[in-house]
Amino acid sequence: MQAGDWNFPTAIRFGAGRIAELPAVLGPLGMRRPLLVTDEGLAALPIVTDALALLRDAGVDARLYSDVQGNPTGANVVAGAALLRDEQRDGVIAMGGGSALDAGKAIAMLAGQDGRLWDYADGEDAWTRIDAAAILPVVAVPTTAGTGSEVGRAAVILDEQAQSKKIIWHPGMLPRVVISDPALTVGLPPDVTAWTGIDAMVHAIEAYCSPAFHPMAEGIAVEAIRLVARWLPVAVADGANIEARGNMLAAASMGATAFQKGLGSVHSVSHVVGALYNTHHGLTNAIVLPFGLTQNLPACGDKLAHLARVLQLPEVSAGGFIDYIFRLRQELQIPPALAQLGVDAARAREIGQLAFADPSTPGNAMPVDAADLERLFRAAQSGDVAELRS
Ligand SMILES: [Zn+2]
Repeated sequence: MQAGDWNFPTAIRFGAGRIAELPAVLGPLGMRRPLLVTDEGLAALPIVTDALALLRDAGVDARLYSDVQGNPTGANVVAGAALLRDEQRDGVIAMGGGSALDAGKAIAMLAGQDGRLWDYADGEDAWTRIDAAAILPVVAVPTTAGTGSEVGRAAVILDEQAQSKKIIWHPGMLPRVVISDPALTVGLPPDVTAWTGIDAMVHAIEAYCSPAFHPMAEGIAVEAIRLVARWLPVAVADGANIEARGNMLAAASMGATAFQKGLGSVHSVSHVVGALYNTHHGLTNAIVLPFGLTQNLPACGDKLAHLARVLQLPEVSAGGFIDYIFRLRQELQIPPALAQLGVDAARAREIGQLAFADPSTPGNAMPVDAADLERLFRAAQSGDVAELRS
């Protein structure tokens, strides 16, 4: 598949093997002593050790920081920012899945600020308290194809005390350069490939169905959905297929580009479940998705029918598209209900209320209240569509 240099939504060096350009992109950003942020699982693997060797051979003094959990915590970010400051590092290489990318972006933001992390998360104007000039540059290297955090301006960080996921956002948090190298994703096991890949599709579907007027985002979303439908099953079945991996990596960036238009109730519920039960973000979304679409049918039926047309499904209707999502989930061996992840219904009411307060909720295809979101959670928890009507 062809390599390329893309310049929106940020500078992207796309193509297999382009990780070799990592040392070269640092200089123009003034990065001589970067902090390489990754997660604990990835730190010892060749993807990271090879990158560190590449930097060392090029005379770059890089320091590894890998204390990042699957759902990155405020403590992970604060400790990383302290290390960056202590060692006077001049930028961040964020390498890994969404967790490492989000943590890396938050560390690069926080290190130069006077305030505390959560000062920059609460309220719509939180971002105005961030000193833009003090945000350090980030080079993002995704190793999964899902969150698209490499092209996003936000980081989702777990506030352990409040047991909620908070969004830290600033336009200056957009990575300055992305190295989008599909060869880095070939080692992802089939289950993680499926979970992260379907997250990209959820981003695109929720963005497409969000009611705001944003045809640019909608166009990108529809093509991202087509790419995931075409290539995710291939990437899951044959992890070494570089064409499938490359298309999925592009689709993930597209999903995240599209969702600046808005997300919706699937992410609202999924964020809360992830914060309370520490479930995988993409997997949680995959389970909630068909129920969210079913609940939103009155508002997004025409759009779902259009997606059925684009995918050339046997039944060109909204119902046909939702059936396809159920089939795709099954093909990817996604469990049918959150119960299979150990999530019970004991806190359903509270989950509805917390999901209502989630920043994704206002973007939903139609207005929903806490009771609607409680019903959505109950349906996803039990796997029973009838819960949506109760
Ligand atoms: Zn997501």
